[in-house]
Amino acid sequence: MKTAAAILVELDRPLVLTEIDIPKLKSGQVLVKVLYSRVCHTQVLEARGRRGADRFLPHCLGHEGSGIVEEVGPEVQNVCAGDEVILSWMKGPGKDVPGMQYLWGEKSVNSGAITTFSRYAVISENRLMLLPKGISLQDASLLGCAIPTGLGTIFNTAKAQAGNKIAIFGIGGIGLSLLLAARLAECSKIIAVDINPDKLEVAMKMGATNAINSLDSDPVQVIRELCPGGVDIAVDASGHTDAMRQALECVRSQGGTAIIVGNAAHGKKLEIDPWQLNQGKRLLGTWGGDNVPERDFPRYCNLVRSGKLNLSIYASAPYPLKDINQALLDLESGKVLRPLIDLSL
Ligand SMILES: [Zn+2]
Repeated sequence: MKTAAAILVELDRPLVLTEIDIPKLKSGQVLVKVLYSRVCHTQVLEARGRRGADRFLPHCLGHEGSGIVEEVGPEVQNVCAGDEVILSWMKGPGKDVPGMQYLWGEKSVNSGAITTFSRYAVISENRLMLLPKGISLQDASLLGCAIPTGLGTIFNTAKAQAGNKIAIFGIGGIGLSLLLAARLAECSKIIAVDINPDKLEVAMKMGATNAINSLDSDPVQVIRELCPGGVDIAVDASGHTDAMRQALECVRSQGGTAIIVGNAAHGKKLEIDPWQLNQGKRLLGTWGGDNVPERDFPRYCNLVRSGKLNLSIYASAPYPLKDINQALLDLESGKVLRPLIDLSL
């Protein structure tokens, strides 16, 4: 059996649209008919070569989506053919099958435990979560990376409390998810920082209390004017090291927490004044929101199903697979928040 797929053959070149042969399923692997995939900045970094040398070329891409289980390999226990599933890079229960190869003519194409830029994908059982009824497959495609990263960062990493003041740097797919989570956590001040006025407008529409364009003013100074003493929590989702430093500078001393979610380009270094830490501020990293999928995903699904977490802001015209390079460009330029690839087109 073959599948259409978009694969990365050379760094900083467009993805190649082609057909690859699907291998026989091994123990713990699942063949999924991918219905929707989202495009995340991670794939832009990978495709543009901004994560450094890539020893896996050529390889498949994509790590969040939704689909239907087509066939299960030996020893798969958590899903069966016909199940609707969330496809996520985050490891949940079940067998972990890290990598595999497809055939591309005479050559082989590497793949990780999950890929989503293809009509069919072989995915490790532990990267699939059953999709509860009542959630659209388009919304489900956000539940593999953008939503759990944002919600997990606020609830698991920052442990935000009602009344906390928070600053969010970078209002892309993750930044917006952080903002939605900050609202769910009943933060009393939610300050959005970006360089794109359109994104700041979206942030205000979605419940930010203040917006700062860091091209026009120094965000640390403005945040300190808005919240004397500093904010309780600041999160960088921009991937820019300046913003990471500003996130640390704008949190309050003695207990303020700065968290880095954004991925900086390979080789970039973060320079901070250690005195910031001497003041009792904490600088944390997070592994995609530190989620335990079997504990947290059902909670996130309930929030979507009950209407408390409305994902309609992520809606945009879907791209067919053949236009995936345009989707990457539109994400990179900030034109689209979280491109949706409809694999049925
Ligand atoms: Zn992602």
